[in-house]
Amino acid sequence: MDKLKIAIQKSGRLYDDSIKLLKDCSIEVNIGIDKLKTTALNFPLEILFLRDDDIPQYLEDGVADIGIVGKNVLLEKRKKIKIKETLGFGKCRLAIAIPKSLVYKEINDLNGKRIATSYPFLVREFFEKKYIKAEIHEISGAVEIAPGIGLADCICDLVSSGSTLFMNGLKEVETILQSEAVLASNLHLREEQNIIMKKLLFRIRSVKKAKN
Ligand code: ATP
Ligand code: ZN
Repeated sequence: MDKLKIAIQKSGRLYDDSIKLLKDCSIEVNIGIDKLKTTALNFPLEILFLRDDDIPQYLEDGVADIGIVGKNVLLEKRKKIKIKETLGFGKCRLAIAIPKSLVYKEINDLNGKRIATSYPFLVREFFEKKYIKAEIHEISGAVEIAPGIGLADCICDLVSSGSTLFMNGLKEVETILQSEAVLASNLHLREEQNIIMKKLLFRIRSVKKAKN
């Protein structure tokens, strides 16, 4: 019988909730030691463990059929894939922050600034919409230290509680995206895979309903 391949984050903020979602859907998963992939015991599902940034590309290519990834990553990567369901965990926002000591009145205050981010596409799109001209510096990690070391004037990064910003002497001034984990899918599933996905979606929706 056909199986559906689901990509989930190998480790990190989405891992526990992704595994828990499968469990709540009564899907039994044995996680092996190598943790590259595993097969569900009672549902036609193969689980691939990947870096979250790689999931959209793998979904477009069909290496995985469906996957759990943050909306932030999905929108930044702009792959040809489809969101099937929002999952209610991994909630955060993509926000612009500036040093606490700076006065901020309006978005035009960002004109001419150097902004450090791991989300160059989403930041560029936001600035174009607002007619802001800023210099975008793409960096892959520890974005919040960029102003402190003189690499940029401000940052755009994921925020949930705001404590990381606070600890780095930054304050949030604009939100550019509200994000949460979503279930996304390859555009060309085979008929039998579609049937499995529908079964999985039905279970996920029941789990979501039971929580409300
Ligand atoms: P990987 O090793 O898979 O590349 P990562 O370090 O890029 O992991 P995590 O920090 O584990 O990613 O975050 C995964 C996702 O969790 C984010 O893309 C986002 O959707 C969500 N998330 C929720 N809250 C936060 C937060 N406060 N900071 C960062 N990500 C958050
Ligand atoms: Zn990542």
